[in-house]
Amino acid sequence: MVGTPGHAVAEDFVARRLAEIGCQPYRGDSFALPYRRHDTDFTNFVGVVPGTDRTLPPLLIGAHYDSVIAAPCADDNGAAVAICLALGKRAADLGGFKRDLVVAIFDAEEPPYFQSDAMGSNRFHEDQLDDRGVHLAIIYDLVGHDIRIPGVRMAVPGLAGLTFVTGCESHPELPDLVGSVELPDKFKLVATLNRYVGDMSDHGAFRKSGTPYLFFSCGRWEHYHEPTDTPDRLNYRKMARLTELSAGVLERADNAGLDESSEAADPASFEARTFRRSLGVAYPLFCKWAGVSEIDDRDSLDRVAGKLLGLGL
Ligand SMILES: [Zn+2]
Repeated sequence: MVGTPGHAVAEDFVARRLAEIGCQPYRGDSFALPYRRHDTDFTNFVGVVPGTDRTLPPLLIGAHYDSVIAAPCADDNGAAVAICLALGKRAADLGGFKRDLVVAIFDAEEPPYFQSDAMGSNRFHEDQLDDRGVHLAIIYDLVGHDIRIPGVRMAVPGLAGLTFVTGCESHPELPDLVGSVELPDKFKLVATLNRYVGDMSDHGAFRKSGTPYLFFSCGRWEHYHEPTDTPDRLNYRKMARLTELSAGVLERADNAGLDESSEAADPASFEARTFRRSLGVAYPLFCKWAGVSEIDDRDSLDRVAGKLLGLGL
């Protein structure tokens, strides 16, 4: 939690790892980008893996490192921080992309700072982001667990292994871009609209400014914001697969135009395809559970989303 000894430990770890994986400071000579709000000190940590053309708008991967209670909070949000650092290391090891890759580890995502002017991603976007802006922002939160629904006795067919992505609607090129990345073996990705869940995390600042973004999450689970959210409960294979997929998305986004577009994007057919592909043999049972005959248009997607949200995801 902000201001606690544990927070200071997390800060030291993040700063050390950004250096070890081969990042350079995004601004000035330090990864630490401090700011002050309401008499409280906060710090974002932002590194960059330099690209071959540093004039281009950079790619950004981001996650928050603060926690909601003084506990490990492994899924919220240690797992996501680890994935960002792993992606940064991988990019650095490969000599970087064409564009800079910004590794942004944000402070103060959790209440009481959530969606306030003290929220780290809001301060980054307003005060710390340089004039190049961001080409594509990929944000992670709650990405380390299998989906299990507390208090729901009937298992939902095919649900456990899924990972959700929102934001494909933020640019008309994104559905094809994400869809063209080969899914890692056993990785199940489902695309949904951000408006179904709202700005649950640090992608809000990017969405509001019209920046193309993707937000990955497995939603809430029984250990959400509990002391039982511990590292032994994470699914490390699932995290590794998401890292793999993300590397593919970054590679394609590096070379994609993502030019300003007035074209309205409703990726309904792409979303429907991700459900069908990821659910596999569980698809008919899942449809039955959701009360739809097929998932094939916005109407059926709306109903499925309502059903899933009804579970408390
Ligand atoms: Zn949280």
